Amino acid sequence: MLKGQCLCGEVAYQYDGELTEVAICHCSQCRRAQGTPFVTNAPVNMDQLTFLSGEHLLKDYFATENKRRVFCSNCGSPIFSQRMDKLDTVRLRLGTFTTPISHTPDYHIYHSDRVEWFDCVAGIPTYAEGNPE
Ligand SMILES: [Zn+2]
Ligand SMILES: [Zn+2]
Repeated sequence: MLKGQCLCGEVAYQYDGELTEVAICHCSQCRRAQGTPFVTNAPVNMDQLTFLSGEHLLKDYFATENKRRVFCSNCGSPIFSQRMDKLDTVRLRLGTFTTPISHTPDYHIYHSDRVEWFDCVAGIPTYAEGNPE
């Protein structure tokens, strides 16, 4: 079981499953949404994700109409993203985990959008655009 929370601690969740995949996304939307050079996220099954508190504080923003980005409206922590054509999966933001995780990143996506000032995690596959699926 994995647990996580937002910065203010109002939103807390648990995931009753294992991480199977960790992606590093360099797209400009993720960079702006997190304020960082890239985002690390893991796809998980929505039906194994439970909000322990603060679900009423979750707010979403659609930068594109097919994907909502869900964050804590109190502190601004990004929690997950969800595609409208794939509602059973959400992509949790790994930085919000409180449980130690051993799964290291598997691949980079939107590598062609990466910032020029930071080089990160060599030795795993890079995809110029979206997911390798
Ligand atoms: Zn919060
Ligand atoms: Zn992205």
